[in-house]
Amino acid sequence: MLTPIAGKSVIVTGGSKGIGRGIAELFASKGAKVTIASRSSEAAGTACSAILAAGGTARHVPTDVSEWNDVNDLVKNTIQTYGGVDVLCANAGVFPQTKIVDMEPDDWDHVLSTNLKSSFLCVKACIPAFEAAGSGRVILTSSITGPVTGFPGWSHYGASKSGQLGFLKTAAMELSKYNTTINAVMPGNIYTEGLDGLGEEYLDTMASSIPMKRLGDVADIANAALFFASDEAGYITGQQLIVDGGQILPESLEAIDEI
Ligand code: NAP
Repeated sequence: MLTPIAGKSVIVTGGSKGIGRGIAELFASKGAKVTIASRSSEAAGTACSAILAAGGTARHVPTDVSEWNDVNDLVKNTIQTYGGVDVLCANAGVFPQTKIVDMEPDDWDHVLSTNLKSSFLCVKACIPAFEAAGSGRVILTSSITGPVTGFPGWSHYGASKSGQLGFLKTAAMELSKYNTTINAVMPGNIYTEGLDGLGEEYLDTMASSIPMKRLGDVADIANAALFFASDEAGYITGQQLIVDGGQILPESLEAIDEI
């Protein structure tokens, strides 16, 4: 049993949908004060209403995580409202699919800014809060795509997700000065609004290629994030955890049929 996270102030970027919403709901169900950071207020409003209806604490701060001023305001606003930031879940991300031959430089910049630059901006903005509190926790949502696997159309995405892991190692060293840990969860294919947009055929084919024979659930990732946020994980930093139902394990297509 983990030490309760109740009362802690937790920022979840991309907390309005999918994995981020799963993280926000799990942390709120454990008594954390959750700040959801995303661009659109509609989905965030729905996510906050669901948390409030379940007896939790949550609010939305409209934020574009690729913009320094937005991120800085998000953190300042959270300190004013909840007294600090104890946990940062840097989760917001996009995964438009475009092959290199068709990819424009702006496509690359959009994905790298949203998925990678945002990790730096969010961590940087939270450092004063971690220093003031004397501790902190950061959980990045990376991916298996990039660091471990490839998929046509996701070269920019894969680069951004590998980049997060490169950032992680040095960030872990620098954040240790503030008694703060930073770790990454690397999801396989998790059923979310974003993944749903890739179509039924993609989802079915992907599920059949996973040894556990199902796509992941947002709670599978949220549970890993909750562990990294716990007091008990206080000596784990700079690490990455794959949560993928065994998706990266098969050596070949035939290997799956042998199960
Ligand atoms: P999703 O369902 O599409 O949700 C994405 C979230 O990020 C939304 O809340 C969205 O809200 C927010 N967001 C996007 N761009 C933003 C920006 N510039 N500023 C602030 N918020 C922004 O995605 P998901 O599937 O849950 O993925 C979440 C994270 O997990 C991503 O980092 C993704 O790379 C990673 N991941 C997902 C999977 C998977 O299978 N689903 C696998 C591996 C890794 P707004 O659009 O309103 O801003």
